[in-house]
Amino acid sequence: MLRRPPAPFLPAVVTGREPLPGRLIRVHLGGPALARLQVRQPASSVRLLVPDPADPAQLSVPDWDGNRFVGAGGSRPPLRTMTPRRGAGPEELILDVVVHGDGLASRWAATAEIGSPAAVSGPARGHDIEPGASDLVLAGDETAFGALCSLVEAADPVARVRTVIETPAGEGLPLPAHPGLIPETVPARPGSPGVALVDRIGELDLSGACHLWVAGEAAAMQQLRKLLHLERGLDRRRAVVRGYWKAGRSSDEESEG
Ligand SMILES: Cc1cc2nc3c(=O)[nH]c(=O)nc-3n(C[C@H](O)[C@H](O)[C@H](O)COP(=O)(O)OP(=O)(O)OC[C@H]3O[C@@H](n4cnc5c(N)ncnc54)[C@H](O)[C@@H]3O)c2cc1C
Repeated sequence: MLRRPPAPFLPAVVTGREPLPGRLIRVHLGGPALARLQVRQPASSVRLLVPDPADPAQLSVPDWDGNRFVGAGGSRPPLRTMTPRRGAGPEELILDVVVHGDGLASRWAATAEIGSPAAVSGPARGHDIEPGASDLVLAGDETAFGALCSLVEAADPVARVRTVIETPAGEGLPLPAHPGLIPETVPARPGSPGVALVDRIGELDLSGACHLWVAGEAAAMQQLRKLLHLERGLDRRRAVVRGYWKAGRSSDEESEG
């Protein structure tokens, strides 16, 4: 069965790169086409297309074969899922990318030259905060930082907003200001991504009408779903838990369609 074609790739160039605490690099993308990207929901995502590492100055836009994107000669195109946020104006996007070592996006964020090409397609669905939600727990690892920023920005100013972010050594990250923000970071356990995050969420008082949004390593997020719903009996409608990456598995092995 053929799938609906995704939004076209909007061309851009890298206009800046700056380190954030932990392993994050903020990459600025700019270009007139970016004004066409309508990011309405917090925690939305885009497909980021980067150059083939063998030819970093060239961007080859893949074709849609009715099911997935295919690169030149049927190759798998250099695509990754990232969270876009608006930069200084409508023609600028920022992406906060984890530099974790051996991965296409990680290497790109660490080395992309100013002026080098990239493109984005999207956005894909994000998460609308429940109207009237007055007690939020927003949590994740560094891959979720962009999404957490957008959720904090969208939260009602009178809400209590507890954030828990897992970073390598518990480094604090620059969340947007919010009157009800109670930020917390937890240091990651080496070799066990997401475990410290799940443990800390398990310690929180989740009684009352609290709503959760959490994203991080897929196996850890599966553990969190068990903890919240099977052990703690939390109503599924009150928690959105998303696996953003899989330990030991490249996104190249996932369907990027
Ligand atoms: C909706 C959504 C939004 C996302 N937004 C962002 C975002 O804004 N910023 C961001 O950095 N990521 C984000 N991610 C996660 C990102 O798509 C994956 O981490 C992706 O695998 C990174 O690609 P890569 O080329 O660096 O590594 P890959 O080539 O995919 O993987 C290579 C190796 O690195 C490991 N790896 C991948 N990611 C990590 C990591 N974070 N820490 C440690 N090891 C890792 C893999 O397990 C694999 O062994 C998002 C994912 C989703 C689903």
